Amino acid sequence: MSNFLNVEEIYGSNCFSEIVMKEKLPKTIYKEMVKVQNGEIELSKETADVVATAMKDWAISKGATHFTHWFQPLTGYTAEKHDSFIDPDEDGSIMMEFSGKELIKGEPDASSFPNGGLRDTYEARGYTAWDVSSPAFLKEDKTGLTLCIPTAFFSYTGEALDKKVPLLKSMEAVSKASVKILKLLGTDVKKVTASVGPEQEYFLVDKEYFEKRPDLLLAGRTVFGGLPSKGQEMSDHYFGVIKDRVADFMRDLNHELWRLGISAKTQHNEVAPNQFELAPIYDSANVATDRNQLTMEAMKRIASRHGMVALMHEKPFAGVNGSGKHNNWSLATDTGVNLLSPGTNPQENTQFLLFLAAIIEAVDTYAPLLRMSAASAGNDHRLGGHEAPPAVISIYLGKELTTILEKIAKGEVIENKAGEKFEMGVNALPALPKDATDRNRTSPFAFTINKFEFRMVGSNQSIAGPNVVLNTSVAEILTKYTTRLEKASDVNAEVTAIVKDCYNNHNRIIFDGNGYGAEWIPEAEKRGLANLKTTVDSLPELAKDYSVELFTKHKVFTKAELEARVAIYSEAYSQQLNIEANLTSEMAIKHIVPAVTEYVSNLTNSVIDIKAVLPKADTTGQESLIGELSDGLSGILKTVKVLNEVKAKALTLEDNLLEQAKFYSTEVIKAMADVRAFGDKLETITDKELWPFPSYEDLLFKL
Ligand code: ADP
Ligand code: MG
Repeated sequence: MSNFLNVEEIYGSNCFSEIVMKEKLPKTIYKEMVKVQNGEIELSKETADVVATAMKDWAISKGATHFTHWFQPLTGYTAEKHDSFIDPDEDGSIMMEFSGKELIKGEPDASSFPNGGLRDTYEARGYTAWDVSSPAFLKEDKTGLTLCIPTAFFSYTGEALDKKVPLLKSMEAVSKASVKILKLLGTDVKKVTASVGPEQEYFLVDKEYFEKRPDLLLAGRTVFGGLPSKGQEMSDHYFGVIKDRVADFMRDLNHELWRLGISAKTQHNEVAPNQFELAPIYDSANVATDRNQLTMEAMKRIASRHGMVALMHEKPFAGVNGSGKHNNWSLATDTGVNLLSPGTNPQENTQFLLFLAAIIEAVDTYAPLLRMSAASAGNDHRLGGHEAPPAVISIYLGKELTTILEKIAKGEVIENKAGEKFEMGVNALPALPKDATDRNRTSPFAFTINKFEFRMVGSNQSIAGPNVVLNTSVAEILTKYTTRLEKASDVNAEVTAIVKDCYNNHNRIIFDGNGYGAEWIPEAEKRGLANLKTTVDSLPELAKDYSVELFTKHKVFTKAELEARVAIYSEAYSQQLNIEANLTSEMAIKHIVPAVTEYVSNLTNSVIDIKAVLPKADTTGQESLIGELSDGLSGILKTVKVLNEVKAKALTLEDNLLEQAKFYSTEVIKAMADVRAFGDKLETITDKELWPFPSYEDLLFKL
């Protein structure tokens, strides 16, 4: 085959990985770097210089000309400013230079990134600092090859202005808490790492159609569009044969990701037409977050090369499924033990049950924060829409595991099939059947064999936020349990008591039924579970006292950082809605109304012509269509007028960002829906040749 590629040879060729580092660095420096990465020592300037030179030489040998501090501001996207390596000499020649100082710290002019009041405008400086725990890589685009250094981004006064700083801090918090409690159980480890495998869903559409849709172009989703005669009801796309054009794209995408050392593993057609999924093999939460961003970027770039556009929006099309991101999460020790794997020996089982209890308690206690971490204007269209979990957080454990917890709580004996009894710390747990844990696809937080899968996250979102909440809340509960265990005389008996208390106090969060079912919501309310339906309902949670207490205690966020995030996310929400409202109004007035008017005029003239030839002809059918079109025109014009008034009012509310967001989420969304209803109706009765936009049929079925 012409496209033959030796995967083993190219894998990681654009990644300054552990292997490359070991090969390129003097032994002593390499050993020092490993200690720096493990947080055991600080990075010295001398070591940084040596690493910088090795990195530069490696990058230049591959053809790189520039370097950048690559960071993740609170826009949810990534940012980069390229500098070339060139350093002119007096004689007019140049040297290629890159110092340790340039590697460690950067100072981008950061005045245009959202800061939520964390930085005075006159003090626009922001700093980027090398994140040694995520490998540098070479990014290939039309500018050439650029050495990208993953960095954290913070203000002059040290506040986090990005997604990475809190994530790293939360990983530290959960590691510390886990190491401490494991020690009490007799397991000595140095570090526990949160591991994450994000499954990424996306749509592909033809670029030519995409560019004729102002809504897709500017808002990422369609604000008009009626369902074609066929949607996803036949389920013939899911896992179906991958079309050639898409396969070409996937092949190029895989090659690029593999070169970056990103382990793209699974690819398939998703439920909606022209919807797809890519899943990598898991990494540490921090590296997985960086790599998920890179994956989304690569998807967009490579789709464009194939004359397509990759849509990451959570709901590009009404009426078919939107896209999400399953955040598979677990904790692993540096000795290679997955703490969420029910083990085969008594010690591992005790650990497993204790960590399981901590997660259940953490998710129940901090459910509103977890829900908030998946909140965005786009994701509001999915959650609770019978295609994604509802906005209520619950946990799916599977029957076997729930029964085990129930029995522990009741003080009943747990037996395996052979009749052997289980006692904490003494015997092994009955083995859980491997296929029994993942039958439920409707749960927002499901235990799947040896990890939890958080299924609420939107396809366009950074996974940093959800993992910050998971890591920190679990760290908090583990810390609580540690205090109990430290006071206990019999550790195994205390673990049993903790699991028992956890189940008795928090079993309301465990739900094995259908999360999409209408009957679940009143049931959840009866259980006292929070139902924060929209982004705007959930955003304030972040700055409430319990949240401030949690995050400041574990040094993940300061109060100011939390308040800034509520402001930034509220504003981002309003801005997105404002763009959508503008588009709705403009597309209606400038495109739909003229097109329909032309059609009405054609029809009217045709009736006049017919009557001129055949005065007695029956034209009541045409007349009724003209009537419908005319009603539609009148309706869309009236509703646009209301939308414009509501939009203008929204803009006056900017003094209170949360109030403004609330107004958008209610009044503006309703006014947009009213306009859309007329627009979509008109699309079904207007000449396709005259309709100003490519249809859902074009977008969803043609590739
Ligand atoms: P599915 O959800 O489709 O059944 P899999 O169970 O194969 O898929 O895994 C989905 C994702 O979970 C993959 O990215 C995989 O690497 C990741 N995963 C597997 N084990 C772990 C773990 N211990 N920690 C975090 N993620 C994991
Ligand atoms: Mg999954």
